Amino acid sequence: MGLFGKDKGKDKDGHATQRRRVAVVSVGAMAEQLRTAALQQAQQLQAGAAGSGGGGADWVRRLRSVLSGPDAGYVKRCTCTFCGAPKKLPSTNAYVYCDYCGSLADYDLHRACETDTMPGPEYTRLVNGLQPELKAARAAGDTTHYRELQRQVFGAYVTNCPMAVSHRAKADEDYRNDLVAYLAESGVQRAFDPEATRLEQEMAQRVAALRWTGSVMTRQVDTGSFWPMTETLSRQVEVHDMLNRRSGVSELDPDKADFLQSKLAWSMFCQGWLRYLPEDAAQQLLERTGLTNEYVPIQPEGSQDRRCSGCGGEIHALPGAKEVVCDGCGRKLDVTAAELTCGNCGATMTFPSGASHMACPYCKVDVERVGIG
Ligand SMILES: [Zn+2]
Ligand SMILES: [Zn+2]
Ligand SMILES: [Zn+2]
Repeated sequence: MGLFGKDKGKDKDGHATQRRRVAVVSVGAMAEQLRTAALQQAQQLQAGAAGSGGGGADWVRRLRSVLSGPDAGYVKRCTCTFCGAPKKLPSTNAYVYCDYCGSLADYDLHRACETDTMPGPEYTRLVNGLQPELKAARAAGDTTHYRELQRQVFGAYVTNCPMAVSHRAKADEDYRNDLVAYLAESGVQRAFDPEATRLEQEMAQRVAALRWTGSVMTRQVDTGSFWPMTETLSRQVEVHDMLNRRSGVSELDPDKADFLQSKLAWSMFCQGWLRYLPEDAAQQLLERTGLTNEYVPIQPEGSQDRRCSGCGGEIHALPGAKEVVCDGCGRKLDVTAAELTCGNCGATMTFPSGASHMACPYCKVDVERVGIG
């Protein structure tokens, strides 16, 4: 996907826009860093005005015309990279998984903006507290210690900001551990690369150089000072792509979704910054980054209603589906086998792939796969 590829000629401010091909990358951790920068900026702005929301408390409503999520009965138009199937069933989460193979297929920024993904104070405290150690490990070239610290940071991130990461991390411990390891390793690659470090400093300068307009309650960023940030981010995305490919870190991604990492990075960036943009600039950012959404009617024809053995939530299996990610708890469920029945309460349920027994979500009695299906 060529972010900025849709640009033709000049942007609103009259600058010649470069046709920039941004390769797919693994930059989840970097995106988080950018978002944190945006949040810190917001906190600084709010320091002088207790209780006011950054960018106006109701920024999603203000940008409704450019940021509307799916209506009931619609789903984001996308196709699974792994099996080629189109998305047919609704998704209540921003991370959109394939209805047929359970692979990560897309990220719905518009859905994400309806959810509060701000890290809580606990996470912020931990990250701020670790900064001196992170800095020292980096200065000393101590990758081992830096990696340990990054694991702490992202472990806390996944735990304290569950809405910011895939719902797969909610209940699937293997997925969660893999995700933390992947994010941490991406952080290590970034921290010890000279060009990535230079770009990080450049980004910090560009954030510091932002000019702000409006009253405290309706604080907005001056777009002339905003667009240079996106130029730096484009280069960061390219560099991190190169780093993650060269080091093999892309392979650690539990979703194996390197095709989606550029989009995730830009989505996180938008989640942090859209609230501070005037409507026309917000629209322009979404178009430049290819994050405007198209929604198509859901197609539930022939789907079988099942129950998740992890959370008891309803899931739907389309004919031919193999694995389905539960929207409620994020477990990846095997929908090829018949449902299992709880010997105690009689409830039927679908097991996660590879699980041999589960506690019944209704009565907590152990249910075994043995001899069934
Ligand atoms: Zn698929
Ligand atoms: Zn579930
Ligand atoms: Zn039961």
